[in-house]
Amino acid sequence: MIDIAIIGAGPAGMTAAIYGKRAGLNVCVFEAELCGGQMIYTPEIENYPGTGKLSGAELSLNMRAQMIDLGAELVEDRVTAVREENGIYRISTFGGEYESRTIIIANGAKRRKLGVPGEEKYSGRGVSYCAVCDGSLYKGKTAVVVGGGNTAAEDALYLANICEKVYLVHRREELRAEKHLARAVLDSDKVEKILGATPVAVIGDKKVTAIELEINGVKRTVETDAIFVCIGLQPENGIFADIAELDAAGYIVAGADCRTSRAGLFAAGDTRTTALRQVITAASDGAVAATNADRYIKENY
Ligand code: NAP
Repeated sequence: MIDIAIIGAGPAGMTAAIYGKRAGLNVCVFEAELCGGQMIYTPEIENYPGTGKLSGAELSLNMRAQMIDLGAELVEDRVTAVREENGIYRISTFGGEYESRTIIIANGAKRRKLGVPGEEKYSGRGVSYCAVCDGSLYKGKTAVVVGGGNTAAEDALYLANICEKVYLVHRREELRAEKHLARAVLDSDKVEKILGATPVAVIGDKKVTAIELEINGVKRTVETDAIFVCIGLQPENGIFADIAELDAAGYIVAGADCRTSRAGLFAAGDTRTTALRQVITAASDGAVAATNADRYIKENY
């Protein structure tokens, strides 16, 4: 029997595993993709204290090594269903069935899609959701980054060092990104800003050739080799809808103590209702959730 089953190995899940193992518990982490979650896509983590200049991928590997060294079991499989019977949680994956006393849902959130014609067709053929992963394919070429948040700003600056030309397309006149990032983008003469512009279509032949925008009701076509979509995150909590309360946006309702409305079920990191979604807040949630799961186990078993 698992003590804490952790669904998702981003900073929340991996920190929860570290805390769970240090509490002497039997911890199992389920991850269908690479450990690290959204952190993997960040070229440089600038606001996690003490790491210095470190990429998100490096921080992910460090956290992974730490939880494995402490003895957490990593199951590289996708969780397909979770149910609770008489206080025991049953977890189904493609490859097996597991039982656990508690669950910490730490599955994060996925990159939001634009939902315009051509986006899906050209996904992987010019449309990308990860500048760190795909940026080098466009060395010396043109790239459009869509979005006005931290991710879009960071990715535009990252691509400016690789591509010949970078456009930042944002639907409003002001960027949402933190001040220093927004300033760096606005000051960069390598990044051409197209503000007040809404993407309406991705155009291509075998691969992306352009993006069509609407600016004040007027269409404009910008030729490009790549389109990096950086328009935020969206939770994927459909499989938990029967056991956890979700808010209107699909996030799991849980407070700062990471407790959900169901005993023994916790939610940590980007997946829960919270005002701030950062690596450090996810890691903090992981610590809180594992500590409260430990308390729950001590009180009930
Ligand atoms: P975000 O902060 O939610 O920003 C999303 C951006 O995309 C916004 O500018 C939004 O426009 C725009 N947008 C949303 N839907 C759109 C659509 N359908 N069409 C066109 N534009 C659309 O997302 P993010 O930048 O990915 O960041 C996600 C979270 O991770 C945030 O909490 C962020 O702070 C955090 N993060 C932190 C760091 C860091 O600390 N270094 C780095 C990356 C991410 P509006 O502004 O008009 O709403």
